[in-house]
Amino acid sequence: MHDLEYVFIAALNQYAYCPHRCWLMFCAGEFIDNQYTIEGTILHDRVHTVSEENRESTWQIRAIWLKSDTYKLIGKSDLIEAENGEFYPVEYKRGRKGEWDNDELQVCAQALCLEEMTGKTINSGYIYYAHSHQRQLVEINQELRQSAIATIEAVQMLLLTGTMPKAVKTKRCDGCSLYGRCLPQATEKVGRYQEAL
Ligand code: SF4
Repeated sequence: MHDLEYVFIAALNQYAYCPHRCWLMFCAGEFIDNQYTIEGTILHDRVHTVSEENRESTWQIRAIWLKSDTYKLIGKSDLIEAENGEFYPVEYKRGRKGEWDNDELQVCAQALCLEEMTGKTINSGYIYYAHSHQRQLVEINQELRQSAIATIEAVQMLLLTGTMPKAVKTKRCDGCSLYGRCLPQATEKVGRYQEAL
């Protein structure tokens, strides 16, 4: 058995969005930009300049690396804030709040790292949506923690085995930059044809 690999926090987000997409990106090394990924990259490039400052009673630090040896997690934060001795992560996203919970998982994973690095319990985080300029509170509750830990384990297994999860056509495929590579409907049809033989 190989040692468990460290998982990029961003891979959890991809896995929660679509396991097949996560495999394409982190096992097969595929990545293709579309309008959404380019907007996201521009936003993160703006945010990812290491800086530290105090804004009134809030301490802020941007673009630092987060790590957890317990969960074998690593990733770069957009923004970490501390107020009244309480730390919390803030993740920047383009657009509006989506229908999926993958962004909440990413914030929770950052909180798990931050807990290990600071020795403090993290009860909340935020997602900042660039389109609306609003922050959405993410409660780091037991349910979200369990979901994040299960996703970490699933991604670790994906990296260890390299086993490709099936491409399944869902509404999420509409915004996926890898649609042209994946062609989930065509893959399903070929699979059904093979089963019928
Ligand atoms: S097109 Fe759909 S099934 Fe294929 S990688 Fe993207 S989200 Fe996943």
